[in-house]
Amino acid sequence: MSRYTGPSCKKCVKVSQKMFLKGTKCHTNCLVDRAQKAEKDKRFSAGKRPNKMSDYGKHLREKQIARLSAQVTETQFKRFFTKASKQKGQTGAALLRFLEVRLDNVVRRLGFAVSLKAARQLVNHGHIKVNGRCLDIASAMLKPGDEVTIDTKTAETLLVKQGLEHAEKTTQRPSFLSWDAGSKKGKLVRWPDRAESSISVDEQLIVEYYSK
Ligand code: ZN
Repeated sequence: MSRYTGPSCKKCVKVSQKMFLKGTKCHTNCLVDRAQKAEKDKRFSAGKRPNKMSDYGKHLREKQIARLSAQVTETQFKRFFTKASKQKGQTGAALLRFLEVRLDNVVRRLGFAVSLKAARQLVNHGHIKVNGRCLDIASAMLKPGDEVTIDTKTAETLLVKQGLEHAEKTTQRPSFLSWDAGSKKGKLVRWPDRAESSISVDEQLIVEYYSK
């Protein structure tokens, strides 16, 4: 499967938005800041106003932000969208809900890892269990009631400990997840609300992108 391995913040530049793909890099040293400043300076000295983006450009950009934030391939993203479009209610909201309950994202939000990349590695390497059974598919969608645990050996590694500490300090766990600190067990208790999505996009633009 194709996987982008270059500097994460180059992707931020592509869509002109910080996507927090790699730990804390976007907070401290995102290439977007530099690129936007350079662009501004260039325009200023040329006496130009910013280019206006076409509707298509806007739709495409929003889709890219969502897809890159979730770190899934074009094919996987389309699959999530198709599934969302078959749901009752708004397709855009369903899409964000589905992206949010991906196993790698839940692993990250529980605090087993500080970034999606690190979370995906835990999943891919078979360290994560769902309902007591190993599940190594990062894009697997969880449903309410599913319980997520980590194997005991991996739970003792420094990286995981740091992630869990960070989660305690920042109280980053959303309320659609429950957490038992003693057994290090997380559970998806309900579907996430729109406001709880970790991807900040205008989902309606994505729906328009695919409805052409
Ligand atoms: Zn960045």
